[in-house]
Amino acid sequence: MSDIYEILKKYYGYSSFRKGQEEIIQNILNGRDVAAVMPTGAGKSICYQVPALAFDGITIVVSPLISLMQDQVRTLVSMGIRAAYLNSTLTPRQMALATQNARNGVYKIIYAAPERLETDSFLDFAANNKISLLAVDEAHCISQWGHDFRPSYTNISSFIEKLPERPVVAAFTATATEQVKKDIIRNLKLHSPYTTTTGFDRQNLYFGTFDPDSKIGFLRNYLSQNEEKSGIIYCNTRRDVEMLALTLSSEGYSILPYHAGMSDSDRQHNQNEFIYDRTKIIVATSAFGMGIDKPNVRFVIHFNMPINIEEYYQQAGRAGRDGEPSECILLYHGTDVYTNKFIIQKNSDNEIGTYEERQRQIQHQLNNLKLMVFYSTSTEICLRKRILNYFGENFYPPCGNCSVCNHESRSHFSRIRPLIKVQDRSGKPLIADEALLERLKKKRSSLALAAGIPGFAVLSDKTLRELAARSPLSVVELTEISGFGESKIRRYGQAFIETITDYQNDCKNDF
Ligand code: ADP
Ligand code: ZN
Repeated sequence: MSDIYEILKKYYGYSSFRKGQEEIIQNILNGRDVAAVMPTGAGKSICYQVPALAFDGITIVVSPLISLMQDQVRTLVSMGIRAAYLNSTLTPRQMALATQNARNGVYKIIYAAPERLETDSFLDFAANNKISLLAVDEAHCISQWGHDFRPSYTNISSFIEKLPERPVVAAFTATATEQVKKDIIRNLKLHSPYTTTTGFDRQNLYFGTFDPDSKIGFLRNYLSQNEEKSGIIYCNTRRDVEMLALTLSSEGYSILPYHAGMSDSDRQHNQNEFIYDRTKIIVATSAFGMGIDKPNVRFVIHFNMPINIEEYYQQAGRAGRDGEPSECILLYHGTDVYTNKFIIQKNSDNEIGTYEERQRQIQHQLNNLKLMVFYSTSTEICLRKRILNYFGENFYPPCGNCSVCNHESRSHFSRIRPLIKVQDRSGKPLIADEALLERLKKKRSSLALAAGIPGFAVLSDKTLRELAARSPLSVVELTEISGFGESKIRRYGQAFIETITDYQNDCKNDF
């Protein structure tokens, strides 16, 4: 199969590509290297997974995070794609089996930690199979200028050189600085790559900044208006994380903490509770989030101002990855500036380099902090514009979806939320049947429980709402629903059709 639209429909159940995806995919298929900057949630996985499915050979995806690999592989397998991961969580036996399967060409897509590439057994597998594409996820890890330098990333290019036939190499990151981009291209030795920065705008995200008298009072108010929603609260310190977790859980909120001072097993446990929707809210330091691919996060609240816009956008961008309306709220107080200045000073003490270099570095970070303060205290300029300009994009306000453009009060949150919309293909709004939606949600929960996967891995909220609006009663009609690929139809189609049929019969009997 080579038509990329066919692949998109068959496996993912989507009918069109998002901005930038198709160009990246075409370039990869034409054999050209790619260096792509895409914001969190823009849909980079599809950019290497669709070519992976179109190519004859195998695709290797280098990824720094175990949880990310596991999520991705689970999703791929649920879509009927042969995928596996090779990392340190596998026992030697499992590793041997997976490597043997890989050697026998069982997998189409293999996720590997960068350290894995350096092992003899992996090299042996890779040298004896056709590797069509090597995708490097979170490629900024290759740069010492990035925020997550991983030394083993710098060995990727020597791995490539050891292969009998050079695959297409495609690098992806959400970090947009020039220095990092240059490092990626040079370090990975990309061959005149197609470089692209897809639009950083995430239209489904609302941005708000507030300066309330009591941050915790603001939180209480917000949470009481947003019960049942899943969200992340970021704090700058572990102390605040502990404090909020204790206070809010004693008030009955479904909330758990996450920070680097906790044991690995506690962190893993709390993270899973959140991902599986058994806990609605996670309150965390910046240690939380990289590699969390939870699509239905409805809000990200920053209890403190982060150190720069890049970090802010990365964390806020974890809201609304499914494209549904979601809120990113920053609570500002003057003291946040001092805390961040202190952090910048302290970090510079640990850095290498000459005195002058360190001073330059500090100055650079203080400038970025200043832009973050401008964002946090903006009363005239659209917040979306501030973010997009920071990433080098033009934007012409009003955006209609930020606290500045909506003329909201700086002290409290009292927005009238837009109605949740579902649209059909032509953009015509559809009204979801709330009672049917409830039943479909229950069905999804029981299917997820039986399969031991989170609800969103069965079907996304968006797909459920479209079902509740269109009430398909046959498999043919199901293929029209966004997010219902072939494998999902095979697995769950009948169950949902039955739920809808039962519902309609019950409605008739009520008359
Ligand atoms: P990231 O760029 O952060 O890695 P993902 O690849 O996880 O983002 O994609 C984010 C979400 O967007 C996923 O739920 C994915 O299924 C969805 N998505 C990606 N491309 C499309 C598309 N063309 N149409 C509809 N949804 C898409
Ligand atoms: Zn705006």
